[in-house]
Amino acid sequence: MTETAFLSHLTETLRGIEAEGLTKRERLILGPQGARVALGSGTAVNLCANNYLGLANHPMLVAAARQAMDAHGFGMASVRFICGTQDLHRTLETRLARYLGTDDSILFAACFDANGGLFEPLLGPDDAIVSDALNHASIIDGIRLSKARRYRYANADMADLEAQLQRARAEGARFVMIATDGVFSMDGYLAPLADIRALADRYDAVVMVDDCHATGFIGPQGRGTPAHFGVQADILTGTLGKALGGALGGYVAGPQPVIDLLRQRARPYLFSNALPPAITGAALAALDLVEQADDLRARLFENAAYWRAGLTDAGFTLLPGEHPIIPVMLGDARLAQAMAAELDARGVYVAGFFFPVVPRGQARIRTQMNAALTRADLDFALDAFRAAGRATGALA
Ligand SMILES: *Cc1c(COP(=O)(O)O)cnc(C)c1O
Repeated sequence: MTETAFLSHLTETLRGIEAEGLTKRERLILGPQGARVALGSGTAVNLCANNYLGLANHPMLVAAARQAMDAHGFGMASVRFICGTQDLHRTLETRLARYLGTDDSILFAACFDANGGLFEPLLGPDDAIVSDALNHASIIDGIRLSKARRYRYANADMADLEAQLQRARAEGARFVMIATDGVFSMDGYLAPLADIRALADRYDAVVMVDDCHATGFIGPQGRGTPAHFGVQADILTGTLGKALGGALGGYVAGPQPVIDLLRQRARPYLFSNALPPAITGAALAALDLVEQADDLRARLFENAAYWRAGLTDAGFTLLPGEHPIIPVMLGDARLAQAMAAELDARGVYVAGFFFPVVPRGQARIRTQMNAALTRADLDFALDAFRAAGRATGALA
């Protein structure tokens, strides 16, 4: 395509992103995902993966993926309903449902698709969705794709949730669904599910929880935030791309009529390819492993406690909590970027977050713990944080 007004316009937009310091640059990792990763500049301790249980390169999952490919081939070349459903898909769907304590589940290519396809078939123009303001982009998009009326409440604010439920009821909603992340990924805060459940029961609402940053490691056997709080979510969505092996894939788990209707009507399910055998086979092995992985969960939370204490001793400001998402608050976007660069030069791989991903003035480096990180990795990273903090002025 020759230079046109259209392409000049795009180039101008890119320049604007660059001028604001918001360009995202992708680092190349030259080997597997893990506690240490190979970068062009050498190896780095990786503190920004969602690899909570350290399974992304686990030999049992690699072997299960290989074995599934040997037995079931490489690709499906079909959506599920035409000729793309293998025994592995149904085994995984029932296995996920058993793990999560629901009637059934349905697989998607990603949780982004699960959330994108969930709302539109279940709710119509007479219905209401009451959504947390900090919900994941895929929930926001999925709600936009539905015809339901939209209500938003301030993050984890139960007074506001109640006000919005009252509004939805006063405005005559037939069915009401509350949609929330189980864990808010910028802060590592858990949604107050016991209070949400109580309000849902009072206003006769269905509770939908996206548990991407919880399934596998929060709650007994890692069954997620509802299990952690001892309450029932009506509909759960989740990912195979974080603690459950880290590859790819998403799901909705819930009551049989919900799953059955999504199988008939969810557009990302109907019009997108079936997950390949390597993924479904390895996900089955991941669930077997995760259910038994109290040792990995213990190590994950030991690491999180050690890392929090080390950063606090060093003089950094953290957000409170116990989740392995541990944000180091820096305030200024430029300071967050300078810290990330200094850490990078010292062999520590982190991600800086600033506006518009988080509110202005709340720039941060979001660190994430996992079970594969050793004490030596964490001590190395703490030394680097102290040195980078002094070099940037983040620490006195
Ligand atoms: C990561 C994430 C998703 C997207 O999951 P994918 O399977 O990677 O598409 C959706 N919701 C939340 C809350 C997430 O953290």
